[in-house]
Amino acid sequence: MRTLVWLQRELRTQHHSALETALATSDEVIVVYFHDPKQTLGDANSAWLARSLQQLQQDFQSRKGQLWLIEGDFSTQFKSVLLNHKIDQVYYTFQLGAPFSNWQQQALQVCQALKIPLRPFDTENWLPYNQILNGSGLPYKVFTPFYKSLMSKISLLEPFNAPVEDLQKTRSVNCPDHFQSLPKDLQDLSNQSWANKILQHWQVGEAQAWLKLDDFVASGIENYDVDRDLPSKHGTSQLSAHLHFGEIHSRAILFALAPLESPRGQIIHIWLRQLAWREFARSILWHFPTSEQAPFQSKFANFYTELNDFDEQQDKIYQAWCQGRTGIPIIDAGMKQLWETGWMHNRVRMLVASWLTKNANIDWRLGVDWFNNTLVDADPANNILGWQWVAGCGVDAAPYYRLFNPIRQSEKFDAQGDYLRHWLPPLAKYTAKQIHMPSNVPDYPKPIIDLTLSRQAHLARRQQLKASSSTEKSALDECITIV
Ligand code: FAD
Repeated sequence: MRTLVWLQRELRTQHHSALETALATSDEVIVVYFHDPKQTLGDANSAWLARSLQQLQQDFQSRKGQLWLIEGDFSTQFKSVLLNHKIDQVYYTFQLGAPFSNWQQQALQVCQALKIPLRPFDTENWLPYNQILNGSGLPYKVFTPFYKSLMSKISLLEPFNAPVEDLQKTRSVNCPDHFQSLPKDLQDLSNQSWANKILQHWQVGEAQAWLKLDDFVASGIENYDVDRDLPSKHGTSQLSAHLHFGEIHSRAILFALAPLESPRGQIIHIWLRQLAWREFARSILWHFPTSEQAPFQSKFANFYTELNDFDEQQDKIYQAWCQGRTGIPIIDAGMKQLWETGWMHNRVRMLVASWLTKNANIDWRLGVDWFNNTLVDADPANNILGWQWVAGCGVDAAPYYRLFNPIRQSEKFDAQGDYLRHWLPPLAKYTAKQIHMPSNVPDYPKPIIDLTLSRQAHLARRQQLKASSSTEKSALDECITIV
């Protein structure tokens, strides 16, 4: 039996059920990553991918194994491997969201046509999502009950098998030379100076992900509760891109942290709760796949100005946001951090998303696009959940409708102005008191949008939507909070 193990975003050698099952039950195993340059999430994400694949290839080699890297139109290349290498069956790990869902659909069509069994492994989550349902058998739309239900079933989790040290079986079929090097598109990307600039901030790959977790558990997790909200501190794990690419399995993290339960249990749980947001985001996308394109609450369908309806002025505003030139220091600092490092602190992600959607009235999907292209951790489920949550059109919003005041948030979470000074050197000379407020920093560009007026305009639009929407219960069921 010759099995093809098809990798998508589970770029690791251990905690990998599809690979382990193939190794244990097949005579011959081929492990392939197909790179389709026309279907990527975005550039920064692909820069990480390039490095991660190189690392994985080395990891395979160091365990006597081999990883094939194939470039081109997915469907064509997939079919040609099945035919040319006489594949008997295909194993893969089910993945959510585009472009993975497209590939999986195409793989199914090819396999059906060739009558080759295609076996998905639904093993990337803590638990299968059809096991976490409310009393009526429906998916949760609010995080806290989802989380409680998830944690109540955590004892059902099966531990992973011991890591497979010997991958020699993945060499059983000779890998053609042209499938041994990094795809040309990814090579070109890796040679770009911007990609190297971003990647200098990161150590990519499975081993590095585990080192980062160890480091965080040893020194960061203790203060996570407070430090996670302070963008100037290295107070979060920064594991998001490792998790996105499956270099580390989130369930393996659970098991790794379990012996630490006591006496640090509570501290660990605060962080695990955040990791459970990832499970929630994936559950929402799994149960409500249309939320990838459309607002979860359909009444918001025409609420924001879409790109097609943009006038020149709105386009300028969008470009200024992308480039960190809004004139609001905390927004600009966040966008600069994103551009320089491919990552942005969670609180600042919320602020920049709020400014774009609620102050600039720009469609959240344009924010998703920019994040997809610039984040190393760009992730279909987390990105959509984050944007829709901030825009107010997603799950988990009621009874609050939040409006962030970026100046107040900046004063609260970057009280000394260290984050602003780091990302906006022209502001370095200003004191902690002055630095947050644009009117206090005369040589900084003026705000391109007045925060108060735009907030009022947004609330007026929101009231209008409420009045026109038959699905809204009453004006009193939602509490507008400005934070
Ligand atoms: P930690 O605080 O250490 O958390 C550990 C892990 O938990 C993260 O790596 C992540 O996998 C998960 N997690 C934490 N917070 C969230 C959350 N709110 N939602 C879902 N999962 C979470 N995260 C992405 O991974 N990819 C994205 O494309 C993405 N886009 C976002 C867009 C917006 C507008 C917002 C508000 C948030 C977005 N997030 C996204 C969620 C969050 O900002 C990042 O996961 C987090 O900043 C990553 O840093 P960390 O690894 O240090 O997180």
